Amino acid sequence: MQPQPRRRRISPRRLAALASVAALTLAVCTSAGNGHLSPGTSTAGAGPSALSRTSAHGPCMITGDGEVQMSEGIPTTPGYTRSTGTVRALTLMIDFSDAPGDGDALDRYREFFPQTREWFTTSSYGRLDYRPELPVPDWLRMPKSFRAYGIERGAPFDPGYRELVHDIVAEADPDVDFQSYDLLNILVTPNAGPAALDTVLSVTFAGNKEAPSADGVAVANASFVYSRQDDGSGSYDRTGYRVLPHENGHVFGLPDLYTAEGGGAVGHWDIMSEDWGANNDLLAWHKWKLGWLDASQVGCATGKGTREYPLTPLARAGGPKLVFIPLNAHSGYAVELRTRAGNDEAVCRPGVLIYRVDADVDTGMGPITVYDSTRDSGGCTRAPNVHAELSDATFTPGQSFVDRRKGIRVKVLPTHRVEVTRTSQG
Ligand SMILES: [Zn+2]
Repeated sequence: MQPQPRRRRISPRRLAALASVAALTLAVCTSAGNGHLSPGTSTAGAGPSALSRTSAHGPCMITGDGEVQMSEGIPTTPGYTRSTGTVRALTLMIDFSDAPGDGDALDRYREFFPQTREWFTTSSYGRLDYRPELPVPDWLRMPKSFRAYGIERGAPFDPGYRELVHDIVAEADPDVDFQSYDLLNILVTPNAGPAALDTVLSVTFAGNKEAPSADGVAVANASFVYSRQDDGSGSYDRTGYRVLPHENGHVFGLPDLYTAEGGGAVGHWDIMSEDWGANNDLLAWHKWKLGWLDASQVGCATGKGTREYPLTPLARAGGPKLVFIPLNAHSGYAVELRTRAGNDEAVCRPGVLIYRVDADVDTGMGPITVYDSTRDSGGCTRAPNVHAELSDATFTPGQSFVDRRKGIRVKVLPTHRVEVTRTSQG
């Protein structure tokens, strides 16, 4: 889900509504368990779990305590879909008697594919082979009206979604072996529910221990996509699919980075923050968490003193991508190099992005905060649905980020290098 379809100030009344929605969403997004759509292939872990906690990267593998909802910690807790190798995405199109599918169900499918598969191939440097599969190439008619399920923004799993998943399984079961898939995409006919400009219903139930079973496996990681994210800017054909990679980010264990105030914490630097508007990538932290970066591509800055680290553009495969400066066992600063390339279409000030990661902060409550090198500048983008103020947040050669209290300085050097100084051990 994401709360802010347009670049406009949210009224206090709407803000209150969003806050309560966030609270409800936590209850449904987070019950991390061991259920998978396909447990046989999904238990390998979502991230770089092969790294030992005693390795050189141990201090950078920050974790949250067990109560945190969808923690940014590494490794990702069990229960989510594996995020490397071949992942089979069962994709079904559903409609209702009071919202009949308009036209060919395959046209609905084509709003999201092959773009979503390509987005993951690009972002993962080919490490995630995302295979959408549609064993039922037609609208699957639900036995009840849309209204009868009581689906609203922030609706919990019980009772509406439980009934809906139960009915989807019953209707699809003759044609579908649920054991063969790693995650479930439900592409709802876009005329069910309000327009996405009014309210966004799209939601994911990830690591859901309460999920019903089908063919002996729990339907624990499922994304539902509703009305079209069409902002009227004319870019829907190129950008409208991006709600699905966002929702699938949840099935891989990633939290929401937008908050009740909107995208002001991370801006357009991660699709888990803003999935409207021009294409954008994931933060390097998320790529490490998902297993798309090797340990050799991550510098862990723990030692006292000054050290230089090279960086290569995040959008390009290979080379060093992330420097992490741990503050304690639960948080730290991340440093990466962003340019306009690959999935990053909206970058208007290429440079070094610096942000704080807190593994102890719940999804939707600001687990990541980007530091703005040019505060109150208004930003460098005028692209629709791109958070403007943070668009020029990057640090360029000669600029430094300083945390005096913790004795940490990150200085950007020419030719894609950063110099990290610590006055105390991390
Ligand atoms: Zn979300």
